[in-house]
Amino acid sequence: MKIHRIATIPGDGIGKEVVPAGRRVLEALAATDPALRFEFEDFDWGGDYYRRHGRMMPEDGLDRLRGKDAILFGSAGDPDIPDHVTLWGLRLRICQGFDQYANVRPTRILPGIDSPLKRCAPGDLDWVIVRENSEGEYSGAGGRVHQGFPNEAATDVTIMTRSGVERIIRYAFELARTRPRKQLTVVSKSNAQRHAMVMWDEIAVSVSRDFPDVKWDKELVDAATARMVNRPATLDTIVATNLHADILSDLAAALAGSLGIAPTGNIDPQRRFPSMFEPIHGSAFDIMGKGLANPVGTFWSAVMLLEHVGEPAAASRLMAAIEKVTADPSLHTRDLGGSATTEQVTSAVCNALGAGSHR
Ligand code: ATP
Repeated sequence: MKIHRIATIPGDGIGKEVVPAGRRVLEALAATDPALRFEFEDFDWGGDYYRRHGRMMPEDGLDRLRGKDAILFGSAGDPDIPDHVTLWGLRLRICQGFDQYANVRPTRILPGIDSPLKRCAPGDLDWVIVRENSEGEYSGAGGRVHQGFPNEAATDVTIMTRSGVERIIRYAFELARTRPRKQLTVVSKSNAQRHAMVMWDEIAVSVSRDFPDVKWDKELVDAATARMVNRPATLDTIVATNLHADILSDLAAALAGSLGIAPTGNIDPQRRFPSMFEPIHGSAFDIMGKGLANPVGTFWSAVMLLEHVGEPAAASRLMAAIEKVTADPSLHTRDLGGSATTEQVTSAVCNALGAGSHR
C-alpha cells in the first residue's frame, strides 16, 4: 500500500481555514478505507512568514517539497505586502520551479447550486479549462526604466515558445480525448496579437493532426466570453494562454455559482515534480477568520489531487460526498446565499463519507 505524502500550504487569509478543512476530509476519507494512507506535512509559508523572514518561503523551499506526491495549497495574498511579491514569492515560485505547466480548471454546476445563467440547464455547463501556466503573458519578462520621470517606460513581454505552446495544446487535446464529447476549443487572439498568437494557432493546427478523433475549433477570446454566457453547451474542453485562461476561468467559476466552489490543479504532466492543487479563489481578507469561507473549492481540489496520485475510487467517493452536501441548501455558505459555516460544511462532508467529523 502506497502512503501518499502530501504537503499542505495554507498560505494567507481564508487559505488558513479551507486547507485544514481539506486535510480533515482527506483524513476522514482515509479513516473509512484501510487501503488509503496519507502522510501530511504542513508548511507555514506566506504573509506571516514574510513578516518574520523577509521572504514568502525559505530559500530551500522547493527542495523541501520535492519529495512529496502532491501539494494542497490555500492562497497567497496579504493586505500589507504588494500582490506581485506574494504571488511571485510563493505560488508562482512553486508553479515555475516545478514546471507545472498545465493549469487545469474543471467547472460544473454542482447539485443544489444556482447559476446566474437563467436559461442554462445544469448539464449545459460542464467544462475543463486548460491554462498555459509557465510562460506567455506572465513570463515575468520586462522591466521599468526612468522610474518617476515623465519618460518612465514599463514593459511586460509575452513570451511564447514553440515547445511551450506545443506541450500545452497537446495536453489539452489529450485531456479532451478522455472526456465523453471529445471536443476542444482553442482560444486565441490572433487577429490583434499577430506574432505569438499566430504561432499558437499554427501549432494548434499541426497538433490537431495527431488527434483525428477530437473535434476542435478556434474562438477569439472576446467571442469566447459571450459564448460561455450565451451558448455554454457548445463548449467542453478549452485551452487558452496564461492571461486569457486566468480571466475565462474566473468567469467560468462565477457562472457555475461561486468563486468559492471552483478547484484547480497546477500539473506537471511528466510527473518530474509534485503537482499542486488549490481552490481558485484568493485570500478573501473580507471574510477571513469568521468561519464563513466556503471550503468546497478546496474539497474539489482534493478530488483532483486524489485522481492525480492514482486514487480514482477515493476521488469519486469524495466528489459524491461534496455533491450530497451542496444539494442541501441548509449547508450553503454565505457566498451561495446560505448561512452555513466552514465547520458545518466540513463536518457534513466528513459525515457523508461515513466517517464522522473526527473532532
Ligand atoms: P486575492 O487578492 O488573494 O486574489 P481577493 O480577496 O482579492 O484575493 P478572492 O479571494 O478571489 O479575491 O475573492 C473575491 C471575493 O469573493 C472575496 O472578497 C470573498 O468575499 C468572496 N470569496 C472568495 N472565495 C470565497 C470562499 N471560498 N468562500 C466565500 N466567499 C469567497
